[in-house]
Amino acid sequence: RAFDENRGARCWHRHGVCIVTEHIDQVKYRILMLFIGGGNSVIFAFSIVNLVSGHYVGAAITLLVSLFIFFSYIFFAKRRSLKASGRLVVYGFTGLCIYLYCSGGFYNTGYLWIFMLPMVSFFLEGNKKGIHTLGLFLIASIGISVLHFLGIHNLPYSDVHIAIFHAAFIVNAALMNLIHRILAAAELDLFEKMREVSALNSQLEYYAFFDTLTGIYNRRQIIANLVTEIERYKRSKHEFCIILFDIDHFKAVNDTYGHQFGDYVLKALVNGLNDNILRRSDSIGRYGGEEFLVIMPETRLEGALIAAERLRQYCMDFTFYNTEYEKPVPVTISIGLAEYQGDNSLDTLLRKADVALYEAKHRGRNTVKTWHPKLDSGKSH
Ligand code: GH3
Ligand code: MG
Ligand code: MG
Repeated sequence: RAFDENRGARCWHRHGVCIVTEHIDQVKYRILMLFIGGGNSVIFAFSIVNLVSGHYVGAAITLLVSLFIFFSYIFFAKRRSLKASGRLVVYGFTGLCIYLYCSGGFYNTGYLWIFMLPMVSFFLEGNKKGIHTLGLFLIASIGISVLHFLGIHNLPYSDVHIAIFHAAFIVNAALMNLIHRILAAAELDLFEKMREVSALNSQLEYYAFFDTLTGIYNRRQIIANLVTEIERYKRSKHEFCIILFDIDHFKAVNDTYGHQFGDYVLKALVNGLNDNILRRSDSIGRYGGEEFLVIMPETRLEGALIAAERLRQYCMDFTFYNTEYEKPVPVTISIGLAEYQGDNSLDTLLRKADVALYEAKHRGRNTVKTWHPKLDSGKSH
């Protein structure tokens, strides 16, 4: 799981989609801290009780385990690995359990703590590793019990007690395993849901910025870009130009060749312009049905005029081939150009380009017109 700079969270990448896993880790983190903080305090308290009541071996071992678990906390603080530090806690606690089984612990109540081991190991190590740990503990406890039956090591429990303890431990482990499996399945389900939400989110993000047919900015976003450009002008005083262009007699193209062919013209034209004519710094967006807005940053009117002329020429020369009619369909555009001079608002700038476009349509289409005060009679096409 890599850290995603954009989201500021750890992500699990699936099919190119980032699924934020931080809050699942948060739950595991809390469990670990509960064992380290809560569980370890009890172990430490027992080492003090042992010390005060003169059980020096018990005091030494519980203190050692307590320090070991505390070390796993330092290890976590340094390495930030829940898995590795979780495993250290389990090792420490398993060691303590083996000692408690051997010695009987405080007033022979030590084995009661052993019933915590299945929960600790499943939650901190997962199903598979947890079973390994519990298996190892069982081998150790059965081994010690055999030594007891052989008279080598004396356990402070009766034979029936030993048998009941092992049966209860196995039942407890099986139940804990079942609970952990149910929780893991729920977690997986949650993961799956998060993946779906995340995929949907990326889709929504796309729709919020881009036009679905052509893949360029949508109206909302190109206007947002224009607002940004105006703000930039206020700081840098670099003039820029905008172009508003509209396909000529597009209704006729649709009516003659069908809507599908019309869609193809829109896509082919926009992609062609984007790849061949516009600069990387320019941005183009779909302003209306077959009307497009181009922002040309740091471009004066003379330069923009050359670019607009190239745009017009490119469209005129482009072969929009209709496979159904087996012929190329001529398509032209009319272009309105306006320069931002710092004295007008966003609306005024757009209206200037619109007036110039109206003039281009009025002058017979397939033309570039620049806004000029003389044009500004306030009418719009
Ligand atoms: P003019 O030269 O004055 O611009 O004439 P026009 O026919 O292009 O203008 P008009 O506004 O009358 O028609 C615009 C047409 O654009 C009508 C509409 O069906 C078409 N159009 C708008 N959006 C789409 C689209 O997404 N796909 C297709 N195929 N056609 C579209
Ligand atoms: Mg048109
Ligand atoms: Mg139009």
